[in-house]
Amino acid sequence: MEIKLRQSWINTFLRCPEQARQERLGLVKQKETSDLLRGNAVHYAIEQAGLEQLHSQTTVGLDVLWDMVDEYLSAHSVLVEVWRQPYETVVDVCRANIKVWHDEVWPQLTPSAVERTFTKEIGTRDGVTLTLTGTADWEDESGELWDWKNPSRFYEPWEKKRWDIQSHAYCWALDADKFNLAVFANGQYQHIPIERTQEHIDAFIEMCWSIVPLMTANIEPWPMNWQGWHCSPKWCPVWQAGECRGKHLGEKPW
Ligand code: SF4
Repeated sequence: MEIKLRQSWINTFLRCPEQARQERLGLVKQKETSDLLRGNAVHYAIEQAGLEQLHSQTTVGLDVLWDMVDEYLSAHSVLVEVWRQPYETVVDVCRANIKVWHDEVWPQLTPSAVERTFTKEIGTRDGVTLTLTGTADWEDESGELWDWKNPSRFYEPWEKKRWDIQSHAYCWALDADKFNLAVFANGQYQHIPIERTQEHIDAFIEMCWSIVPLMTANIEPWPMNWQGWHCSPKWCPVWQAGECRGKHLGEKPW
């Protein structure tokens, strides 16, 4: 049996196994939100700029980046189901975020790969072959990995350094030991550099294997984790579908 784990799905699993099960089976789906639109628009512009630099050794100007952001937003805003900010605010924040990337981050970087997709086998145990998949935003010529985040506020660096999954997964998959989170929030920049040693990677691989028994057990539901921001009608698609806690507590539980 082959099991493919997507890095982002591991995050969902660790927050709530039952939500992860339902998403994996396609029973529920995350809603398109203005938060996702904001992140995707900035990602898109950075990706285009990186590809241009990679293939033509030219750098695009800030005006071009702003045009890319504007075009992306106007083409994809119709897909948004949940607006957490007005459209005009999303445009302003995206423009401010891409400006700070252009001014403060990009000058330090030269890409060796952009949006690099990987599928890498972890190994085989007891007849199960485990594979990890993901997409790295930016591999730099220095050998360091970079990932762009566009949340509504800055992260706690110690939390990311202590338990961030993505940095483990990507450092393992792409043979790197330095992973950088470039966080853009309301036009401000936060840099969180993270180092992953062989010990970190070994622990991560064991964590991946720890998910397998539940996945192969053919049981449902999986454990439900209520404790955290994710377990609410605002964030959980299972709750929104009227299942799990949503079946009992409805759309306005508190
Ligand atoms: S409602 Fe809560 S416990 Fe149920 S699947 Fe969603 S996050 Fe998990």
